[in-house]
Amino acid sequence: MGLACPAVCAGCGTAGDAFLCERCLAALPRADGPRCSRCWDALAAPGLCRHCAGRPPGFDMLRSPFALEGVAREAVHRLKYGGLAAAGPALAERMAAAWRDWDVTIDIVVPTPLHPRRQRIRGYNQAAVLARPLASALGIPLAHDAIRRSRATPPLAAGEGRDARWQALDRAFAPGPGRTAIAGRRVLLIDDVATTGATLSAGAETLRAVGATGVIALVFARDGSAAPSPASPDGDR
Ligand SMILES: [Zn+2]
Ligand SMILES: [Zn+2]
Repeated sequence: MGLACPAVCAGCGTAGDAFLCERCLAALPRADGPRCSRCWDALAAPGLCRHCAGRPPGFDMLRSPFALEGVAREAVHRLKYGGLAAAGPALAERMAAAWRDWDVTIDIVVPTPLHPRRQRIRGYNQAAVLARPLASALGIPLAHDAIRRSRATPPLAAGEGRDARWQALDRAFAPGPGRTAIAGRRVLLIDDVATTGATLSAGAETLRAVGATGVIALVFARDGSAAPSPASPDGDR
């Protein structure tokens, strides 16, 4: 571990040289149980959720190894707001391990872009910090500028409905200078978290517009879409 690594575990605060200690790694809450086959939202029984049955999202499927709670929520918070770009490889390693189990063919990895203004403030794009080590772990090329953020999305407001969220993200992305890498490819679109899935759906639609033959979304942790909280990280893209 390098000098940029934290001196304490992001999950429990125990001193150590790893981003998450062994105990916290083991305590990451798995996103298991019955899930929507398309958007991976928790369901009472496996199948399609009512949202995906009514208006299918832009991606073919979304997968997430973890639920956005407990240690996973702490880890994402540190990655995003703690200025800890060094946390990326540790989280990407878990994503890569989970992804190998799903065994879906993809050709290229694309991080969900941040709006340039937000990226300037944060200093890095947390999705890119995950996508880079993930792509190299999977041995798949990375296209970091295939799409770009054309509009900043306002933070998710308290009580804001799912439809309003999806409308706010309409035209949020545009083709980027690296779009030529996408034609005829199956894309793995990466983000840190998903709440409603609206951001990833909008990104996937733009990737299809530049020729992607399929788009699978992969996030580190997924929140339930039923009742997004005002503090939801998905609202802060
Ligand atoms: Zn710990
Ligand atoms: Zn669904």
